[in-house]
Amino acid sequence: MKGLRFLLLWFCFLFGRGVAGQELFNDSHFHLTNYIQEGTKIETFLHDIMGDKVHRVALFGIPLQQTWSYANSADYAPTYYLQSDAPLYYYSFTDAFIAMQYLSLDEEDRERFDPMITGFNPADMYAADHIERVLKTFPGVFSGIGEFTIHKEFVSSKVAGEVASLINPALDRILDFCAETGLLVILHSDIDIPFQKPDQDPVFMIQMKELISRHPETTIIWAHTGLGRVVHPNVSRISSVNRVPSAFHIEMIRRAVESGDYPNLYFDISWDEVAKYVVRNEESILETASLLNEFPDRFLFGTDEVAPSSQEGYMKVFNMYEPLWEKLTPETRHMVTKGNYERLFDRANEKVRAWEKSQGY
Ligand SMILES: [Zn+2]
Repeated sequence: MKGLRFLLLWFCFLFGRGVAGQELFNDSHFHLTNYIQEGTKIETFLHDIMGDKVHRVALFGIPLQQTWSYANSADYAPTYYLQSDAPLYYYSFTDAFIAMQYLSLDEEDRERFDPMITGFNPADMYAADHIERVLKTFPGVFSGIGEFTIHKEFVSSKVAGEVASLINPALDRILDFCAETGLLVILHSDIDIPFQKPDQDPVFMIQMKELISRHPETTIIWAHTGLGRVVHPNVSRISSVNRVPSAFHIEMIRRAVESGDYPNLYFDISWDEVAKYVVRNEESILETASLLNEFPDRFLFGTDEVAPSSQEGYMKVFNMYEPLWEKLTPETRHMVTKGNYERLFDRANEKVRAWEKSQGY
């Protein structure tokens, strides 16, 4: 009788929680809201879109708001940065919005989200103070900062005010504060300018390496491995590297990881624009798979979906990568889709909670 009751309890535990562990991935890169701060309700996202397919999600909005300038587009209301010539501006309220969405969930559901702070201007020496204020206002909520952007094709030049840069001390202050608190960093910075000539070195690579080196105690995830819509892996230095076109980008990452100089640096392979490069032919799939199999603890899967409306749409990037998943060892696949997320975010949560406690927040 006792045994039967135990079995029944165990059954309830397993199925009541939706059989934890069977999900396909953790999503290290997800935007709940879009460039006009609208998006999916968190309840809908959790129950109808993540469902039993996705276990945990790094949750953020978008720090930039597209201005609807009547002078520019009259009655046409832009919802994306490519739909208007009017500037983008930093929208700090996003952090309060994300925190309140998260806090609206019950305790058990909150465990499936790792909220991130994004609503700061990385060219402002006061940015680190904003981040601290957010932790103070919403203790127990945030795991990291980002995705925030330094260099991004078609975006950086549209942001109102001083243009962000990898060499701005304001960014150093931000990353120092993350080292102190344990906040994990998701940083978007294109490796190069758009439409670069093939014989040029990628413009931002050296600055990025120097930045990572200056902050050895800060854990940084380089979003999209530095690629973009037109900043693609075969732009840079094809002619000087006697290899197939995509090899140069892979080679740069391999050298950076292999050197041992950047143990605090990780990469996410989120965004359909990145997936398209990886799965475009057998060669690019094999090159990427061999890099990931060689360094399985340094890469994270993410969707980079923005305010999805259906599970089908949300799963698109994961499904695009199917040819890559097939070429990974079971251990690598597990680490890239789940394990690295858990390791990095669990560690960040532990550190940030301890720091908040030490401050009396
Ligand atoms: Zn993103």
